[in-house]
Amino acid sequence: MSEFQYTGYAQEIIFGAGSLARLGEAVDRFGWRRMMLCSSGSLRRDGSVGAIESALGDRLVAIYERTQPHVPDFQVAEALELAEQREVDALIGMGGGSQLGMAKAVSFALEEKRGKESTHSASPISSNSPIAQPSVPVVAIPTTYAGSEMTPVYGVTRQADGQSRKLTITNAKITPKLVIYDPKLTLGLPPAVTASTGINALAHCIEALYSITRNPLSTTAALSGVHHITHALPRCFAAGDDLQARDELLVGAFLAGSALAHVTMALHHGLCHVLGGAAGIAHGIANSIILPHAVRFNLDATAPQLAPAAGAMGISLTGRSAEMAVEEAAQRIYNLVGSMNLPQRLRDVGVPEADLPQLAQLAFQSRTVQSNPKPITSAAQIEEVLRAAW
Ligand code: NAD
Repeated sequence: MSEFQYTGYAQEIIFGAGSLARLGEAVDRFGWRRMMLCSSGSLRRDGSVGAIESALGDRLVAIYERTQPHVPDFQVAEALELAEQREVDALIGMGGGSQLGMAKAVSFALEEKRGKESTHSASPISSNSPIAQPSVPVVAIPTTYAGSEMTPVYGVTRQADGQSRKLTITNAKITPKLVIYDPKLTLGLPPAVTASTGINALAHCIEALYSITRNPLSTTAALSGVHHITHALPRCFAAGDDLQARDELLVGAFLAGSALAHVTMALHHGLCHVLGGAAGIAHGIANSIILPHAVRFNLDATAPQLAPAAGAMGISLTGRSAEMAVEEAAQRIYNLVGSMNLPQRLRDVGVPEADLPQLAQLAFQSRTVQSNPKPITSAAQIEEVLRAAW
């Protein structure tokens, strides 16, 4: 029997090669007059930041373009100060998950400040209600495949007691209200970032398929996402300027992000957040190393959900068990990661073997890890996955 809860977020999505040209018209429709752009140096260098400046003219009143991976909290404070000084009424995140995360973090901080300053604190609409409108909304222009543009979530890293920890914040109001997917903006994305963020998108589909909160829409989006991502990713890696392949991979990332936005993730994502926050590993790289091992760990509990994904990857399902098909899918993912020259072992990205027990302990405390479809009752189970990946 089916039982599910589905939360929709009102978003306008504009997809298409050259769709950045529609930004000015969309901004007019939304009525934003004082916008701030959160981006990065590489997007300044490839001309994308200049294109936003031209499109918005004097409606762009501030730019923060230093965002580092995993969004350090001291940078959020810097960007927030700038946003307050310029009295912005909307934020644009353009770039990868970190740049989009920065726009969300500033939007959330402004919301919190205004909430505290307001004398009418007893709002009839809960501040985390999907119908509550943000006071300073987010526009997302993704140029990687990480999927943050579709979700009500961002991560921020914080230094405390000599340790770096990544926290995730979920609030419906930070879900971007306008998303512009322009495959042309991804033509210059370096092969390594293409590869690792493409695997991140694939991981969203895999964990959505076996999520304990999956629903018919997330499952449909995730399966289609697996097909498009595994079909287009090797082509984008081989020829970054193949616009048709870039278009298909971005469609796959949209589907993956759509699935991700509506379900809880599991062991794989919880572990990747710990590896990003505590060990400083780029999110896409952590995904590339962990995904085949997470699939294998969950195989006995999730083969019926993942077998269709094996089918979507082109693996024949006739004459073999779901477990065998999913085992082959895990091997294909591992081979795909290797064929794109991404690291395949934690030792190759500087994680000392001695750190594995502590990383397992941290992951054991993660709510995301505890949402794994196969129950995780001890840190030793996680350490086993980390050792396999080491
Ligand atoms: P990233 O944003 O950390 O880094 C991407 C890098 O690629 C940046 O240096 C950026 O400047 C560069 N880049 C981006 N587009 C480019 C282009 N077109 N040309 C050249 N360089 C370009 O990487 P990411 O993997 O996109 O995002 C990872 C971060 O996002 C992590 O912090 C992760 O936790 C978070 N994330 C959040 C969600 C969510 O739902 N909120 C989903 C996925 C990832």
